[in-house]
Amino acid sequence: MNGAPRLAALRGRLAEEKVDAFLVTDPVNVAYVTGFDGVFDSEPASACLVTPGAATVYTDFRYAEALKAQASSSGWSVVVVAGPLNVRVCEDVAAAGLGVLGVESSVPYGRFKYLSEHLEGRVLAADEWVERVRSVKTADELERIAAAAELADEAMAHGIALVAPGRTEREVAIEIEVHLLRAGSEGVPFPPIVAAGPNAARPHARPSDRRMGRGEPVIIDLGARVGGYCSDLTRTVVAGTADGRVRELYAATLAAQEAGLAAVRAGVAAKDADAVAREVLGARGLAEAFGHGLGHGVGLEVHELPSMGARSREVLAAGMVVTVEPGVYLPAWGGVRIEDLVAVEEGGCRLLSRAPKELAET
Ligand code: ZN
Ligand code: ZN
Repeated sequence: MNGAPRLAALRGRLAEEKVDAFLVTDPVNVAYVTGFDGVFDSEPASACLVTPGAATVYTDFRYAEALKAQASSSGWSVVVVAGPLNVRVCEDVAAAGLGVLGVESSVPYGRFKYLSEHLEGRVLAADEWVERVRSVKTADELERIAAAAELADEAMAHGIALVAPGRTEREVAIEIEVHLLRAGSEGVPFPPIVAAGPNAARPHARPSDRRMGRGEPVIIDLGARVGGYCSDLTRTVVAGTADGRVRELYAATLAAQEAGLAAVRAGVAAKDADAVAREVLGARGLAEAFGHGLGHGVGLEVHELPSMGARSREVLAAGMVVTVEPGVYLPAWGGVRIEDLVAVEEGGCRLLSRAPKELAET
């Protein structure tokens, strides 16, 4: 993927903040800033040093060959480090006479301490510099996310067909994961959640060996990964036939989700979109039951900026990809959540999730 605009955005930030160099160490951010596909993994073994005139990527032997193959025509210099990465970065920063170094606030304390103690200049936290750039997607990124959303839709249909009284959550979760992998997902961004009955009252429940009871709501939350980019999708179905209580809570959640979707567009404060959905549930006496935010950004990671909750400071912009996922959770009874993935556009949002939303009884 073309990393040049990303580099330009970071250099703009360097100038704005009067920082001489920016050190990127978060593995996902390293992959993003360079734009190199399939080189880095989740190990914090590589780093990027960005200055107004140079861009250097440091790595070790394990990644050297793959990295050099992609870096040759990119403008990035590659430094293969045999010893500790911190030491080499400090040497280079000192040799270049760089005064102020920005580091990510997620940098481990030990590394921050080392850099602070060994550099003559100042080290400061450059909070969310890369994450903010990441939050707005290019057409190429949107295509990858849409492809991941399509795989999620298919896996959801497969999972829903398996829900039945007497089946365990774990059985369905395993089938969903196998289906995702067979269909081409690059691993899974998170283990699928299948939560029935009382377990569905826990938004991040782990699938258990408990058998689904007749009439219980079952929350299925899953995602796929394509070209490095994630999707995220939730549906709630009923094992057997829904009773009045399930129908009522499902209708309330769906109304909140539709109101949330209608509120999402470029220029809207993320917290205002959250408030619109929250109000729908509040009017039905369910404010307390909706204990998390309306949604979150999705991209290289399944949870990234912008966050869309009551305390969010972000303003939605065209090109952002967010989930819209209100839920109601009643301890000991269960829960309902409906989650779609959307691309924010001027004047509205485009649904990337296509899974049906009528209450399915299996
Ligand atoms: Zn989800
Ligand atoms: Zn989500």
